[in-house]
Amino acid sequence: MTDMFNNEQVMSAESSAATPVAYVSSLGVANDSSVDLTQQSNSLQTNNLQKTLEWMCYPLLWLIASTAVWATFTYELEFGLVNVLFLFFVIAYLALFERLIPYDVTWQATKKEWLRDGAYLFITMMGGALSIAAIFAVASLVSPKTPSLPLGLEIVLAILFISFGSYVFHRLGHDWPWLWRFHGIHHAEAKVNVGNNSVNHIFDVWGRRFVAQLPLIFIGISQESLFVVSIFNTLQGYFVHANINVRLGRLNYFIGSPEQHRLHHSVDIKEAGHFCVDVTLWDWLFGSYFWRKGRKPDAVGIKNPARFPPPEAILKCFIHPFKKPK
Ligand SMILES: [Zn+2]
Repeated sequence: MTDMFNNEQVMSAESSAATPVAYVSSLGVANDSSVDLTQQSNSLQTNNLQKTLEWMCYPLLWLIASTAVWATFTYELEFGLVNVLFLFFVIAYLALFERLIPYDVTWQATKKEWLRDGAYLFITMMGGALSIAAIFAVASLVSPKTPSLPLGLEIVLAILFISFGSYVFHRLGHDWPWLWRFHGIHHAEAKVNVGNNSVNHIFDVWGRRFVAQLPLIFIGISQESLFVVSIFNTLQGYFVHANINVRLGRLNYFIGSPEQHRLHHSVDIKEAGHFCVDVTLWDWLFGSYFWRKGRKPDAVGIKNPARFPPPEAILKCFIHPFKKPK
């Protein structure tokens, strides 16, 4: 997870820090240069702090998620409640890191956009609560409360199944013109940040959930495994959208990241693969994996955003897919 640019900055700060000391001591002048040295030392500290934050952001999030799962099982907490609390926590956590280590400052959400994203989140949560209630109602009838297979194995199976269903539905959302009329609402904005993960047509959210999760219930995956996987998916879904300067290195070959997902939002359709946000397996198998180290999209959004209503026109966005195409 080395950052070439920051390393260069650190090295040049270190080498230029040595030169003024020698020069100043030979002249016996200290006042102005001591100010320079203090500034250089401050910028070095800022660089080091940023590098530390970049390094710790993702592992710390995993540590917190694992603790939440452990506490839920140990103290028999309500799955639904922990899910909702974790969702709010992840958004707040990543929004904080977007301020501390932004990837592109022009992608940061304005206050108005946060309000809009909050409204979408509310609609998604209300709609999502309905779909989760429907899914868990079916689950309570069909699937066991505790796993029949070892929990670890069930979780791996559940991740692969959900990931496959999400991949198929997401890819169809891009390839089928009628489904794109729903999913394009998520892509219309020329920014990628944690808030706009919530900007979706509610039918797009429902469609993906049903396609991805219902088959799992019918093959008898337990509610415990569904809970763990839903925590994992919340973590990944918001993390990959976050406008933060993290580099996952070779982990990028196995797991979704902001580095890959901002390519998915690229205006250049040739690099806009990466339909997986959790594990990258299906992108590899179906030829939509394009990420290479340091690859950045020139622009994000869609070529012709005027074909969609602006995301803040929530009602217009809702009825857009049902209107006759112009
Ligand atoms: Zn997409």
